[in-house]
Amino acid sequence: MADGRFDVIIVGGGVMGCSSAWHLMTRAPDLKVAVIERDPTYAHASTPRSAGGVRQQFSIAENIEMSQYGLGFYQAFGDHMAIDGDKPDVGLRQQGYLFLIGDQSRETALAVNALQRDLGAKNELLEPDAIKQRFPSLHVGDVALGSFGPEDGWMDPHAILQGFRKKAGALGANHITGSVDSITCADGRATGVVLGDGSRVDGDHIVCAAGAWSAALLRTASVDVPVDPVRRMVFYFEIREELEPLPLLIDMTGFYFRPEGRGYICGKSNPAEPAGDNFEVDHTWFETEIWPAMAERCPPFEALKVMNAWAGLYDVNRLDENMIIGPWPDGPANLYVLCGFSGHGLQQAPAAGRAIAELVLDGGYVSLDLSRLGCARVKTGEPFREAAIV
Ligand SMILES: Cc1cc2nc3c(=O)[nH]c(=O)nc-3n(C[C@H](O)[C@H](O)[C@H](O)COP(=O)(O)OP(=O)(O)OC[C@H]3O[C@@H](n4cnc5c(N)ncnc54)[C@H](O)[C@@H]3O)c2cc1C
Repeated sequence: MADGRFDVIIVGGGVMGCSSAWHLMTRAPDLKVAVIERDPTYAHASTPRSAGGVRQQFSIAENIEMSQYGLGFYQAFGDHMAIDGDKPDVGLRQQGYLFLIGDQSRETALAVNALQRDLGAKNELLEPDAIKQRFPSLHVGDVALGSFGPEDGWMDPHAILQGFRKKAGALGANHITGSVDSITCADGRATGVVLGDGSRVDGDHIVCAAGAWSAALLRTASVDVPVDPVRRMVFYFEIREELEPLPLLIDMTGFYFRPEGRGYICGKSNPAEPAGDNFEVDHTWFETEIWPAMAERCPPFEALKVMNAWAGLYDVNRLDENMIIGPWPDGPANLYVLCGFSGHGLQQAPAAGRAIAELVLDGGYVSLDLSRLGCARVKTGEPFREAAIV
């Protein structure tokens, strides 16, 4: 039983919940914060199943700036999360992201690059020859342009989650194991949550950070977000040859790959994937949709061996595939939505956690205005689209 009263209740102890708890506790050490997580092994959570990428290559300013804060934060993660001098290592590898661009997207790429550079990103546009010079293994005959982010890279999502979780706990956040059945409201305010065992936890502020499972929970408070769990698969493979250090490559046909350990991981989103908690790996998807195109792009991948594969869930916002943050218009002002991150939540978690801390402690955004990513656009059905969704 978990009955009690807290200043802030966070439902979901994935990277969003734990980052929110860390940012709250860092700013207000006396705050009583509860993070309620139904499965502390995180067997099905999205965070540890993530590909771990961080990039400043987005098309809207908020996403670029959130990733910039995220990158800086992860560079100093060991210091932020140190406990008794023990610093977690998130294995940040800034080996670059390379988006390959076809002729029809050249103009958009130029405009987007200008915005990214205005905001301080060092992203470069590369002609095919320059790509080939840097990455001789790649075939670039059909490529019009490459967008290369030299500071972009990838990290270990599991280490990030554990770092946030442990440090938030060390700072005084209460980690409670339990499954939240519903959010309770009275007189237009959220008042607490009811757990599966019937116990109740009361709180002044409630943050719903339940990832791909957020929509059902929010509906119990009459908040209706169009967020679905959608399967995404990741395949790990090895080859015999040793290649030049490759970046995380995002192909114009939709697949991506990047180095991982002694091999590579890759994936490709299926636009027709039905919503649902599906964790089965479909190897046909790799054989038909990824491998042929990937071997064409990088011929040494013709002779590869898949050694491992897993599936995880994106929390897909059907309206525009961007995050949804903050209170619902005309809903309880002390209930904060925090979901819909699709495939870019890991890198946005530091900025999202900081934003939640500002909403709770300052009553509005202080450092980065995320109003355009709030619930208002969802309620009115006006998408705020990001062009660089993977
Ligand atoms: C295959 C894949 C690749 C990805 N690649 C990248 C990438 O390269 N870069 C990037 O930035 N992002 C990536 N992402 C996205 C990123 O992993 C997610 O956006 C992020 O992890 C979401 O964090 P979260 O805390 O919201 O969700 P989760 O990690 O799923 O955490 C939510 C938690 O809430 C708990 N919960 C749910 N309902 C309840 C309830 N009722 N009561 C109590 N607890 C509850 C769950 O058990 C879970 O632990 C990827 C995701 C996947 C699946």
